[in-house]
Amino acid sequence: MNAQELKAKIIEVAKANWADAVGFASVNRFKKDDPIFKIMPETKTVICLVFRLLRGMYRGIEEGSTYYQYTTMAVENMEETIMPMAQIRVANLIESQGFIALPQRRHQTIMAEENDTNPEVAYDAIFRGKTQEPQMNFIDTAVQCGVGEKGFHGALLTDEYGPMVRYCFLLTDAEIDETLIPAPHLCDQCGKCVQACPGKAIDENGKVDNWQCTVYYNGANGTKNPFMNPDAFLAFENRLEIIAGEAKVDPETARKILDNIYFYPPAQHAYQCSICGRACDIACYVHLEEKGVLKKKFHDKFRKREPWSFDVNDFVIKKEK
Ligand code: SF4
Ligand code: SF4
Repeated sequence: MNAQELKAKIIEVAKANWADAVGFASVNRFKKDDPIFKIMPETKTVICLVFRLLRGMYRGIEEGSTYYQYTTMAVENMEETIMPMAQIRVANLIESQGFIALPQRRHQTIMAEENDTNPEVAYDAIFRGKTQEPQMNFIDTAVQCGVGEKGFHGALLTDEYGPMVRYCFLLTDAEIDETLIPAPHLCDQCGKCVQACPGKAIDENGKVDNWQCTVYYNGANGTKNPFMNPDAFLAFENRLEIIAGEAKVDPETARKILDNIYFYPPAQHAYQCSICGRACDIACYVHLEEKGVLKKKFHDKFRKREPWSFDVNDFVIKKEK
């Protein structure tokens, strides 16, 4: 199999295993200190596999009706089953041709920084700052592979599905023609992702505060949480501020708040349910769909009605009145 045939076969195998897009980047696109060279110094090509998340998986968190489906099907199942299976099969193909292939998926419970966190998993299941293990920069590497652009809030935006995707990589010593990097054309800096976050976790420059995100991803905003008790966070002086999504947290206060969030069960593998409803990504998707720029069309619009919310006054208890 020559390089062209190998590239075509990689795309065929990846798509047969549910990848929706495949991108290739030569190592020449990366700086010499990029983590990929520490992970596998002989890397010649980075391959990105992109998987759509079915729009139906977002319906429950959009409507506030069911929350488990998004986390089990769009996060846990994709990360733990669908994407690794495709990676293994593509890696098998590459190694059958005498090259090596190293699948790279997100280390959901390993963080290089001592004080960092990942909203998708339980904060106390994360192993922090105890390893010098290099980790790829997922979003920047995906952009280098030509599969999409970096949206204002850091999500990968794709032409077909906007931010409703997940992605992973393979590193290989096979030299494969790279994919052109399209000029960014989706994100128009509208700020809807920032406005939609129920915890003000995205700043004016698009940077996400991971602890702030984690607290509100887990449901600390009572106006967007159908499961919160009216007397939630009683031990907190600023409980109404927390419930209104106005509290500014640091890692210490975030841990305390998270220890008091018992409103909804987690999924398996330490995955937490997204009670914020992935509002940043959905707002972006709705915006891109309204503009008509997404190539994958549906018969009907995703958003059926104005976003719902409860009144923060529902959480005011008598002695506070
Ligand atoms: S919501 Fe607007 S600003 Fe945010 S990523 Fe999408 S297009 Fe860009
Ligand atoms: S909307 Fe949810 S996932 Fe997005 S930044 Fe806010 S808390 Fe995090």
